[in-house]
Amino acid sequence: MSRYTGPVCRLCRRETATSKTGEKIKLFLKGDRCLSKKCAVERRGTAPGQKTQGKPSRQKISEYGRQLREKQKMRRYYGVLETQFENYFRAAARVPGQTGKTFLQLLERRLDNVVYRMNLASSRAQARQMVTHRHFRVNGRIVNVPSFLVTAGDVVTIGERSRQSPLVQSNVEYAKNRAHPDWLEFNEQELTVRVAALPSREQIDTPVDEQLIVEYYSR
Ligand code: SF4
Repeated sequence: MSRYTGPVCRLCRRETATSKTGEKIKLFLKGDRCLSKKCAVERRGTAPGQKTQGKPSRQKISEYGRQLREKQKMRRYYGVLETQFENYFRAAARVPGQTGKTFLQLLERRLDNVVYRMNLASSRAQARQMVTHRHFRVNGRIVNVPSFLVTAGDVVTIGERSRQSPLVQSNVEYAKNRAHPDWLEFNEQELTVRVAALPSREQIDTPVDEQLIVEYYSR
């Protein structure tokens, strides 16, 4: 399956419109725009193609439908293709312990996610592009694979030449004033990110019920 290239705000609007609680669900796919009044979820919470304004859909959703929506929400949140997403689940299911937690942890460990979580990119899409453009090194070696999984003790650095890039410079300035997860340590002088530990479930603020996704794949 190829990557979705349409308007990404439609994806957020789909999740918000099918939320049973009427909660505004944001996938944060467009950087600063997501925090502004221009956000499509703030302006209209209807599903794509639906004309009526406001209010969540009254359509009844089956248990399978709920599981499917949760799976789609998480997959879109991390910007991962269907097959790769399923592969993460299969890998998590082979690890003893709670599959849902391991599944989330695997997605959090992706290098593009680490770059985004550290605010060194305004969105995961931008983080993915920056990684493929060889802006980052892991333990001294250039890594241009966004799905690279970091592990505890790894050190992510910004390449010497990349530090001259206006995009990298402005993102670094932005990152210095922003909070980041506890499991990542940012050294502002050396421009390095150290993975202090793998994230616990409490340290992952992804708004999903991973148990529903486990049920979806366990059918
Ligand atoms: Fe979603 Fe961001 Fe678009 Fe808002 S601006 S609808 S949060 S992608």
